[in-house]
Amino acid sequence: MARIAILLADRCHPKECQWECQAYCPPVRMGQECIVEGPIGKPIISETLCIGCGICVHKCPFDAIKILNTPEADESEIVHRYGYNGFRLYRLPTVPKHGITGLLGPNGTGKSTALRILAGQEVANLGDYAAPGAWAKVMERYRGTQLHEHFRRIASGELRVASKPQYVDRLADEGGTVGEFVGGSPAETERRIEEVGLGPKRERPLAELSGGELQLAAIARCLATPADLYLFDEPSSYLDIVHRLTVARLLRRLGEERSVVVVEHDLALLDYLADTAHLVYGEEAAFGVISHPIPMRAAINTYLAGYLKDENVRFRTEPVRFVAHPPKLPPRGNSIVEFDALAKSYGAFELSVAPGLLARGETVGVVGPNATGKTTFVKMLAGAERPTSGVAPAGVTVSYKPQYLKATGSGSLRDRVEALRAEPGFDASLFERELVPGLRLDGLLDVALTDLSGGELQRSAVALALARPATLYLLDEPSAYLDADERMAMAKLIRRQTERLAATALVVDHDVYFLDLASDALMVFSHPDGDPTRGAGAGPFPMREGMNRLLAGLSVTFRRDAETRRPRINREGSVLDREQRASGEYYYEGAA
Ligand code: ADP
Ligand code: ADP
Ligand code: MG
Repeated sequence: MARIAILLADRCHPKECQWECQAYCPPVRMGQECIVEGPIGKPIISETLCIGCGICVHKCPFDAIKILNTPEADESEIVHRYGYNGFRLYRLPTVPKHGITGLLGPNGTGKSTALRILAGQEVANLGDYAAPGAWAKVMERYRGTQLHEHFRRIASGELRVASKPQYVDRLADEGGTVGEFVGGSPAETERRIEEVGLGPKRERPLAELSGGELQLAAIARCLATPADLYLFDEPSSYLDIVHRLTVARLLRRLGEERSVVVVEHDLALLDYLADTAHLVYGEEAAFGVISHPIPMRAAINTYLAGYLKDENVRFRTEPVRFVAHPPKLPPRGNSIVEFDALAKSYGAFELSVAPGLLARGETVGVVGPNATGKTTFVKMLAGAERPTSGVAPAGVTVSYKPQYLKATGSGSLRDRVEALRAEPGFDASLFERELVPGLRLDGLLDVALTDLSGGELQRSAVALALARPATLYLLDEPSAYLDADERMAMAKLIRRQTERLAATALVVDHDVYFLDLASDALMVFSHPDGDPTRGAGAGPFPMREGMNRLLAGLSVTFRRDAETRRPRINREGSVLDREQRASGEYYYEGAA
């Protein structure tokens, strides 16, 4: 096994440090040029001279260096490499003529890179980062494989590709209206805009859309583009549970005729959507290896088990376990917060929430479509919005993680945690003992918050919210930007912390696996009579009742996987689907 030295260029600030990496490097001190200044003033770390001592990793004040061993994958399998101390991708997914292929793996392991390479938007450099990628070399490498024909057709323009990029928030800058953006033939555009549910927003400028609406517009555009291969990079981001299902059904239909590749972290959705999946493993920002294709059910079961036998790779030390039966509710006498009927009127929107009771040690999932008032309810409890009628509970200390995060000013997570020390009841050891390992924060503590990726910022924000002493924790969409692994780890952590602190947590989210693993009970929000100008919230309900209320509204049922007990979306109209609808059991099997 060879060594990989990675420099996280965004985090490296060579003018603000003492070049500790170089100063403390043992080979450098012996007179060898192991770490030298590169052409852009940042260090270059020699992978041949590096002895793997890890001193530079620990000395770097910005956590900008990673030293690790290369994966099991062979060096000859390298597909793309971004620079000498940059990320490297091993192997590519296969692209069948039709059907849906999923890519499932951690953030920063090259999934988007793989899609761009398949699409021909980036020509694979095969590890030769100094030279631009060349089609002739790519053809030579893949001779005799299915990818040879794929790249030949891509290079000649014979294979048409449509792609939905990962970062849809950037599309707002493109200008124009939804209708203009979606493009395509008038009939096709019209049909796709209607299908994704953007009909009423057709004439709206992109700049006025919410994140979820931009996502839907990007998906409609991709669907409206005539192509042979369709690539969707994280289509569920910003979407609520209703739109996730709508999009899943649209993609399934597309996959009956075309080839579709999807990167997705919502496991219930990916499971329903795709026929096969490639697991992607590796080390964030350092390397990624794409596994051979695995039938969908086995792919997710393997992922949850955490061990890929054929390639002898372990993703995780502990398997993720689901329970088939709803959790028992804590005794109601244990309440810490009781709230009145609360109403909020914004003029164009009226919200009413039925009275409820939050119990000690309980994590409550808050579910329902977008714009039904979930955030408004949470803000009323937090004291950030005043109810129009009803009184928010008094004397409750609240710790709140808002839905939209923005890193501002200077400072790192460690600085923010230091500032909490002044708060009465703050337990620094709890942060270090539980939150740092549970949310994998050790490599992030000293990075400026503004240099963090979306997922890293989310993990930091949740850690800060949970570190603050409070009786009520409000976490608005904590799974956004996280990969599937991080979601499951976070779900377990939130639940454990809530129990340990004997507090209550309200968690607004749209990912069913995340909600299943995190929640003891559910609050359900909806538009009464489908009226978008009104919202209604009720609960907390026991999990079974909450899931039944939510899923009846969405017209979807789940069955249990025989091996892992994980929930799986039923095919519409299947025997189980019809039986479960008839008996009103949308989520848990059998009688109570
Ligand atoms: P994923 O989609 O799995 O999250 P990406 O393919 O976006 O991963 O990126 C993998 C890694 O490659 C990232 O962590 C980043 O460090 C690096 N990377 C991506 N694009 C570039 C680029 N254009 N130049 C240099 N490095 C890049
Ligand atoms: P959810 O969290 O379920 O997506 P929100 O509570 O964010 O729902 O919003 C519910 C409705 O209230 C939306 O139609 C939104 O546009 C409206 N709304 C939210 N905040 C305000 C505000 N400050 N002023 C006016 N309307 C608002
Ligand atoms: Mg990506």
